[in-house]
Formats: sequence, structure tokens, C-alpha cells
Amino acid sequence: MTTASGIPKAKERKRRIRTKKTSSLPAVLLSSLPAIHVNLLAGEESLICPSCETWCPITGPTSTAPKLVPHHRGRAGTSEPHRCVGSLRRVEIDVDVADWGREVAAAEATATGRRSSRVNRKPLASVPTPVHRMASVPGPSARLLAEQARARAGVDRHRSDCSTCRTGQARCPVGRQLEIRLLHTDASVRLAHEQHESALRAAAAPAIPRAQQWRQVKDHVSRANQQRRKMPAGQAPLGSPPVPLTTLRPQRPTR
Ligand SMILES: [Zn+2]
Ligand SMILES: [Zn+2]
Repeated sequence: MTTASGIPKAKERKRRIRTKKTSSLPAVLLSSLPAIHVNLLAGEESLICPSCETWCPITGPTSTAPKLVPHHRGRAGTSEPHRCVGSLRRVEIDVDVADWGREVAAAEATATGRRSSRVNRKPLASVPTPVHRMASVPGPSARLLAEQARARAGVDRHRSDCSTCRTGQARCPVGRQLEIRLLHTDASVRLAHEQHESALRAAAAPAIPRAQQWRQVKDHVSRANQQRRKMPAGQAPLGSPPVPLTTLRPQRPTR
């Protein structure tokens, strides 16, 4: 790239390229690099190129042949437009993303005060799902949505084919059946949406403190308690079998 001033500058690095070409250098094994020289966050896959020691995007990280994008040595905009020999070098992603994240976290934890200014990638901390959200009701299932789409397509197809229903003035028995089926699936989808949303609202509402919950039910509890005490001792409802009063103990049958 040549700027207005005539001084050539290193190009911005592309994230993704399409070429099938690869470098003749052997593939870079991610397991051979320090974890902090690698970024495996989805959409940000990159590593510090061993040849020029600058961050370089990995193109096609999920493909069968991930490689470094073509790049100049030196950062974009600096006057150093020399192609790096690491351009198009194959990358072997032979580490697990979760393992990599743990290693980076451990390295960052021990690197206080002596961290390189260049390597400052941090994996996203995983936020555990709050317990009250786990119990929330899911929305309409994929199966239900597919059923709704089929029902709608059935109605549309019939309306364009049937001479009675096409007029919009009348319905043949089949057309009516198809419309009823669509109404039913629409209602099921709506219900699933409403249940899902009310579960979300319930989850978002602040939980009532336990003491307040007890205060709300206190009257019912004490009333039930009093009624229980009023029951005359020893009196069973009419027609019920008598309560056994002797303790039963298993015994060997006598011969
Ligand atoms: Zn390089
Ligand atoms: Zn019809």
C-alpha cells in the first residue's frame, strides 16, 4: 500500500481469506505455543506468529485447513511492508478451547506486575446461570413451530387449489378442517410463548424474603393448627376400619 506521502505502509490484516495456497513452512502446533500467545475466542481466533512475533488472525479456524492470513511484518500503518514468511502458514488447532482458557487464566493470575504490554488477551469469564433461571419454562419447541408452519402451508396450499375455498366466500369441509388445525397450533404456540414470558417475568421479579412469605401464610397455618387440636382424641370417622392398637411383631409359624 502506498500512501499520499509515497511511503509504503504495512497493510491492515484481514480476518478471513479464501485462497487455497499454503506456506511451505511446517504447520504451527498450538500446543507448542504458550497459551497466552494464542487466542481461541470464537470470532477472534489468532496467534502470535512465530516468524514476526505479532498477533495474526487464523483464517478458517473451524475448517479442515486453518492457516494464518497473509500479513506484513510489523503493525498495520508502520513503514515496514515486508511480507512475513509466516503468511498462509498452516495452523494445527490441537488444544481444547476450555483447556486453553484455563491456562490463560492461570498465566494471567501469576503474571501480575510483569506482564507483556503486547499479550493482554483474557478469556471471557463464564457466568453461571442463576439458579432461578434454570427452572424457567422454555418457549415453543421446534417441533411445535414446525407443526404450525405445516398447518399454515396446508391452509395456503388448499386455498390456492380448492375452487370453493379460493373465492373466500365459503369453506369446503376439508378447508374448514385445515383452518381448525391451524387455529389449534396457533393457540399452542401462543400459550407456550406466554408461559415462557411469565416464567421470565417471575425470574426477573425480586424474590420475596422468607420472613415475609411466612407472615403471609401465618393465619392459615394457625387456623389449621387449631382445627387439628379440636379433633376429639380416639374418635374415628364412621365406617372406617379400627386402628390397630397392639404392636405387631413377626413370629415363626408354629408347627
Ligand atoms: Zn508473521
Ligand atoms: Zn376447500
